[in-house]
Amino acid sequence: MLRPKTEEEIELLKINGELVSKTLAEVGKVVAPGVTTFELDRVAETFIRDHGAVPSFKGFEGFPSALCLSVNDVVVHGFPSDYILKEGDIVSVDCGTLYKGYNGDSAYTFPVGEVDPETRRLLDVTKASLYKGIEAAVAGARTGDIGHAVQSYAEGAGFSVVRELEGHGIGKEMHENPGIPNYGRQGHGARLIPGMTICIEPMICAGGRGVYLARNGWAVHTADHRNSAHYELTVVVRKGKAEQLSTFDYIEKDGTIKF
Ligand code: MG
Ligand code: MG
Repeated sequence: MLRPKTEEEIELLKINGELVSKTLAEVGKVVAPGVTTFELDRVAETFIRDHGAVPSFKGFEGFPSALCLSVNDVVVHGFPSDYILKEGDIVSVDCGTLYKGYNGDSAYTFPVGEVDPETRRLLDVTKASLYKGIEAAVAGARTGDIGHAVQSYAEGAGFSVVRELEGHGIGKEMHENPGIPNYGRQGHGARLIPGMTICIEPMICAGGRGVYLARNGWAVHTADHRNSAHYELTVVVRKGKAEQLSTFDYIEKDGTIKF
């Protein structure tokens, strides 16, 4: 359960991390006003399968698609649909891959065209809270240290933290122990050991932290219907500093995308 991964396993997780990172960048290229979320899912599934991998979300506990596509007040687990993205929306794209028996899992919230300044700040703070969590994910620390780092940063910026969902270990299974909460107390929770591979994924709300489950049993909405953002990266715990196995560099830095 809490067995650290071997370096061979970490290498396979890194290959998956690279593929999800590049898939998110491919999706990001087509996010624009006028595009449906079905189209984003098609781009991702094609890219993943073209690289010999499988979109791990599709069929997972009955989930219908390659991506979770969560627009505006949808926190996570939205289905793709014929909804047409419009200027000022935000769309959270969560992507999973399965390749050579190991998993990749990362998420990024994209602005659609120009968003208002408060929404831009929600995106920036949510992503920064993820990096605060990664900074805390060092050998010898505990999962509560990660949660505390995310929570104190996000709440310090005036936003709220969803508590019903959390990050997780990753390996042969997409979701392994330990759970990685986005709130918590320093010095509490499972001990982090070198070679442990985890996904940290803050879900941060512009308004209150209350959420509800849609009637389809999947989409999680904010109770006040204000926006929510979600960023996720996979890291391996090391002594002193975690090593990222996935990255937003392909989205945020110019250059040709190769795999
Ligand atoms: Mg994910
Ligand atoms: Mg995840």
